[in-house]
Amino acid sequence: MEKKDNYLLQQCYHCGNQGLMEIVVKHQHTYGGPIFNKYGEEIDIDMQEYFDWILLSCPVCKKVSLVQKYSNECEYNPNTKTYGEYVDLLYPECNVNYLGVPEEIKSAFEAALKVKNIDISICLLSLRRVLEAICKEQGAEGKNLDSMIKNMLDKGILPEVMNDACWIIRQLGNDAAHAGKIRIYKSDVEQTIDFLKTIIQYLYTLPVQMDRLKVKIEKRREKQKKVQE
Ligand SMILES: [Zn+2]
Repeated sequence: MEKKDNYLLQQCYHCGNQGLMEIVVKHQHTYGGPIFNKYGEEIDIDMQEYFDWILLSCPVCKKVSLVQKYSNECEYNPNTKTYGEYVDLLYPECNVNYLGVPEEIKSAFEAALKVKNIDISICLLSLRRVLEAICKEQGAEGKNLDSMIKNMLDKGILPEVMNDACWIIRQLGNDAAHAGKIRIYKSDVEQTIDFLKTIIQYLYTLPVQMDRLKVKIEKRREKQKKVQE
């Protein structure tokens, strides 16, 4: 095995370092494949799904991260030259599913998360900036963040229930700009991160996930129909 196979390029969400992290353990499992009847005869074949769980060690802070790699035999991704490979960070807590999330939103959100244990004010300002970036990416009209959010609600891009979440993100971002005068608590920041995470998942990840599962169910139904014919 070549040495580079023992390392994976990853960001450490304990300390913010980005670089090659050593693979401590790799656990793999494949689901699906041929289905046999009680006589040991192959009667059907299910799509194979490959899971890799990789435990990484950070060279800077020595803490571990757990990454999940998923792929299956049906979805070929020409960019990564792999069959539908998706990489998710399961631990530490930055368990954001970035599926369908535009690169600029992802990097802005990650930049905010990186400083949450270092500087609360900068983190809140960054979260506010992420919300601004989302509004722009969604084509919201308005001169300021307030009016852009209103426009997103009017257009039905965001449901009414998210209005308060946006207000909190905006408000705490403003408070952070006047750091020192207004006391901000760490738990406020944690919750604000959660609200923004929910908005990101709602706007970008859920539609892709639902679409993907819908296609899968439809394909399965078609297959079933053909078998019955
Ligand atoms: Zn680290």
